[in-house]
Amino acid sequence: MTVANQKGGVGKTTTAVNLAAALSMHGQQVLVVDLDPQGNASTALATEHRSGMPSVYQVLVDDLPLSSIIKAVPEMPNLFCAPATLDLAGAEIELVPMVGRETRLKRALAAFDAMRFDYILIDCPPSLGLLTVNAMAAAQEVLIPIQCEYYALEGLTQLLQNVELVRAHLNQSLAVSTILLTMYDGRTRLASQVAEEVRSHFGDTVLDAVIPRSVRVSEAPSYGQSVMTYDPGSSGAMAYMQAAREIAYRAASLAEA
Ligand code: ADP
Ligand code: MG
Repeated sequence: MTVANQKGGVGKTTTAVNLAAALSMHGQQVLVVDLDPQGNASTALATEHRSGMPSVYQVLVDDLPLSSIIKAVPEMPNLFCAPATLDLAGAEIELVPMVGRETRLKRALAAFDAMRFDYILIDCPPSLGLLTVNAMAAAQEVLIPIQCEYYALEGLTQLLQNVELVRAHLNQSLAVSTILLTMYDGRTRLASQVAEEVRSHFGDTVLDAVIPRSVRVSEAPSYGQSVMTYDPGSSGAMAYMQAAREIAYRAASLAEA
């Protein structure tokens, strides 16, 4: 599942990390692939990501096997991270002349024993460049976090067009399966208006769970933790747990169908 939205600060990384943690706490084997040069997901998962060390960059650019960069997340027995370093910033340009530049991650995943994992979540950078295209080409599903703020829907048309292009040319099985409303502030009317608009537009794709704006959520990464372990009883942790449950139920009913 690719977590994508070309807007920055909408909760992509927070969502990837906390959903992954929540699913792993239910016994699912989960891998987070950090595809953002800033490496925020790697930081939140307490996974080392100094520039120069083996990371997603070498997987994409030098064909290093994905299995060789995966690290177990400390104190989270079922959770793993493929870290990103700042080197990845160069990949956006270095990939351009390469053969199959859009499908480097797809190839790396195909060469890898992905069946070991129940879920692989890919955290995208805030752009629609080659890294995000690689993430979409490699995934079955796109999860779009939408921040419940003004301008939230701006850029969404372009994002959906990109998904369509990737589906048409690179990955027929791709679909926007999940939309998650993030940073919901129940005190503002704007938040509920945005939520309503998104629901009327996207219907069942939108999870019932809504992630509230919560200080605990934003504090957790500085302790190298997800909010799921940092403060499991907090509103943010409970909302991400509910979102994970919905995603798991959906996957189960798809498997039955
Ligand atoms: P993106 O990956 O889309 O750029 P992030 O997940 O990094 O977005 O979130 C942007 C900022 O907002 C971060 O500082 C993060 O800690 C904070 N944040 C994300 N979700 C919440 C939330 N539910 N409540 C409070 N702060 C949040
Ligand atoms: Mg991010």
